Amino acid sequence: MSNDCQSCGACCAHFRVSFYWGETDSALGGTVPTLLTIPIHSIYVAMRGTDQHPSHCVALIGKVGEQVSCGIYEQRSSTCKEVIAGDEQCNKARRAYNLGPIINPPQEEAEILC
Ligand code: SF4
Ligand code: SF4
Repeated sequence: MSNDCQSCGACCAHFRVSFYWGETDSALGGTVPTLLTIPIHSIYVAMRGTDQHPSHCVALIGKVGEQVSCGIYEQRSSTCKEVIAGDEQCNKARRAYNLGPIINPPQEEAEILC
């Protein structure tokens, strides 16, 4: 998790986090613990806690907007990896928690900073 994410966690407690069941450890090469998922479709599962309202992933540790971590960070799904701090989905989730938007620097500037 980036520094921004460690004090946020909004996307893990706003969206339904669903993905192909083959990413669970029930499948060869899968990593996400099956026990932490719930079937939502014949071939899709969701992280437990994110298929309800209010949503809150069972693997999220800590308090949204303060200090958080992902309990299965190395095993998390591709869906979890898709949200990038400062992108549209990120800032949508942050808005839901009254957290200000993250504004990424323009690409050229980002390259210089790296
Ligand atoms: S909403 Fe954005 S800043 Fe917050 S945890 Fe998700 S990606 Fe990170
Ligand atoms: S598995 Fe981790 S990164 Fe994915 S939604 Fe849950 S807490 Fe967030």
